[in-house]
Amino acid sequence: MATQAQLPEGRVLIIMTGGTICMKPSPDGEGLIPVRGFLNQGMAPRPSFNDGSMPEPLPVMTTATTKKYLRSLRTPPSTYSRHIRYTLYEFPELLDSSSISSEGWTQIATTVQNNYSLFDGFVVLHGTDSLAYTSSALSFMLSHLGKPVILTGSQASIFALQSDAEGNLLGSLILAGTFMIPEVCLFFHHRLFRGNRTTKVSASSFDAFASPNCEPLATITAMGAEVNWNLVCRPRSIARFDVLRRLDTAHVACLRIFAGIKPEMIAGVLRVPGLRGLILETFGAGNAPSGEDGSLTAIFKDAVARGIVIVNVSQCQSGSVTPLYAPATALGNAGVVFGHDLTTEAALTKLSFLFALPEITYEDIIQQIPLSLHGEITESSTAQFSHPSSKKPHLSDPQTAFAALGYAIAKGDVEAVTEMLDGDQYGLLEAQDYAGNSVLHVAALGPEKRVMRELLKRGASVHARNRAGNSALFLARRMGNGEMVGLLERGGAHLHVEEVERGGVDVGVGGGEGEGEGKGRGESNGGVGGVGV
Ligand code: ASP
Repeated sequence: MATQAQLPEGRVLIIMTGGTICMKPSPDGEGLIPVRGFLNQGMAPRPSFNDGSMPEPLPVMTTATTKKYLRSLRTPPSTYSRHIRYTLYEFPELLDSSSISSEGWTQIATTVQNNYSLFDGFVVLHGTDSLAYTSSALSFMLSHLGKPVILTGSQASIFALQSDAEGNLLGSLILAGTFMIPEVCLFFHHRLFRGNRTTKVSASSFDAFASPNCEPLATITAMGAEVNWNLVCRPRSIARFDVLRRLDTAHVACLRIFAGIKPEMIAGVLRVPGLRGLILETFGAGNAPSGEDGSLTAIFKDAVARGIVIVNVSQCQSGSVTPLYAPATALGNAGVVFGHDLTTEAALTKLSFLFALPEITYEDIIQQIPLSLHGEITESSTAQFSHPSSKKPHLSDPQTAFAALGYAIAKGDVEAVTEMLDGDQYGLLEAQDYAGNSVLHVAALGPEKRVMRELLKRGASVHARNRAGNSALFLARRMGNGEMVGLLERGGAHLHVEEVERGGVDVGVGGGEGEGEGKGRGESNGGVGGVGV
């Protein structure tokens, strides 16, 4: 039995940007303002954030080249027999989130990037006012994300007697340090949402956020976290984590249609110099007045002809924009793009993201709007429901299925592996054997690079570690399997910081692109036998 001192630790970097969670009344009586020293004043005195073990400081990259050692704390063990070890980096200027802009998003994204290999997950503390915008923006800026980035805040300060701060922060910390959910998420009031599906729905209730068109990715109950793995989006190509540094928010606007709106007002907005995109918040399923003799429709048509991208989203919280009624159809015929069930926040930031891509054309953008880049939209071909795979489950229970898959991987049988994963109803990519090995660990020791490629393309996590704390990359390096090492690294794998601290495995293989044939191939089937969930 592991003693408390030996329990595994998930490492989390908390990035403090400001918001109510760290606010106190300003000395001049001008309202609440963010204050510094959150870790020492807000977290260290609370037993749920500090088990009193006084761990060593943790290194944090405060710029791409500056490393600082910051005080770290550790939670008591969670339901998952795991401590969360964390530190907190405060931005030089703490904001009320109503002032955040694309520079702030860049600062958050680069802080994650600079510290990506040092932590298992990231929690971003942020004001609630623009939290849904920041969550949406980051979801587009962070590509091939393999680790959780969870944004949270609170409706009342952590220093207030009655506050939601402790629950929101603790829930985020435990989720970020325990589950490899490779998405930008927003955690609030016991629920983990996909960030780009959220919207703020209350200025005072603790239940302040909703995700009307997408179920929560996880819910915290008294029994622990229930993760809805079927909903979790995973990377679908083999590539390393990367960041798009700047969104183009300067050329996008948003306009809410209201009953009686004058066409000249809309024409005025569409003539703003430099405007490239407009999010049009319409009635119901996407309807807007057409104006006398179609004057408004003509204004939209003219703007589209000038190359302005107009995206139709609904003012309603839930449901989707479709050509159901004649007014919505008329907008579609004028060249206005249906934004389906995009939130306004996601539509604005998606357009800002697309405009920031080099050499993207108007046609490319129009094509990308209805497609799901990071789960932000329900693609109409797969609309509204999910159905079980048409393939029969290969085997009748998860344990047998995982064991069969493990043996097929160890044998290097690509066809069998593909077939089993196509028919998978048990979430085998998340499963672990008695020693905590995932399918990727088994593949790392297996003979067949094509099996590894198949698993990576299906989004198997390169950051999962077995009970001994070893990643698949560590095992491949120990086997001296240079091809496997190269492939894993191309898929974003790096040694975990604890593996590096232990001395890693220096076998001199696996330069980033080292996938060429003819390098020493490791022995097959080593180590991981007797798979079972
Ligand atoms: N005005 C605050 C902010 O967004 C509100 C909050 O944090 O709840 O920074």
